[in-house]
Amino acid sequence: MNLRILGVFAFLLLFTFLFFGCSGGEISKLEAEKKSLQQDLEASKTRVKDLEVQVTDLTNEKIKLNGEIASLNKRITDEEIAENSDERALKFCKENLKKISLGLKLYYADNKKYPKKLNEVFPNPKYLDLIPTCPAVLRDTYTSGYKLSKEGKTFVICCLGHNHRALRIKENYPAFDSEKGLEVERNAKEVVEE
Ligand SMILES: [Zn+2]
Repeated sequence: MNLRILGVFAFLLLFTFLFFGCSGGEISKLEAEKKSLQQDLEASKTRVKDLEVQVTDLTNEKIKLNGEIASLNKRITDEEIAENSDERALKFCKENLKKISLGLKLYYADNKKYPKKLNEVFPNPKYLDLIPTCPAVLRDTYTSGYKLSKEGKTFVICCLGHNHRALRIKENYPAFDSEKGLEVERNAKEVVEE
């Protein structure tokens, strides 16, 4: 009987030893794991900081490149404007001739004749509120470029002078003929040389 109790006691003792022994092993294992995870976490934090620095560098680089692109675009635009200024001057000169001719036609509708001189009837808010200037030379080239037919039934008006030579436009062109409309003659010889 005593032996049996002793056996049970020994068994309990063994069990306790095994249980705590194992638990102790498990705890140290978990602690080691915790430490390793903490190390991983620190490493990750360092990596995140490195990446943040890289992101900042890339953002700065992007800002710098965007600035370069913007200044390049502006330079291109400036060059285009310079290249196109002659073309634009011609375009506005043609528009001016059309505007004046329209004013003359309105005047004709009321008076059944064209005026002998432009400044005889213009500027007049009813027909043309101002005599424009040619953008190529910044002066009124139209008043002196206006010619009336003898019968007063037709007219020709031109940009008087060699004002659009940069585009190889002939002297006294562009012009507007009341019968033919807008005309632009280019210098054929210079065109061949192109
Ligand atoms: Zn002109």
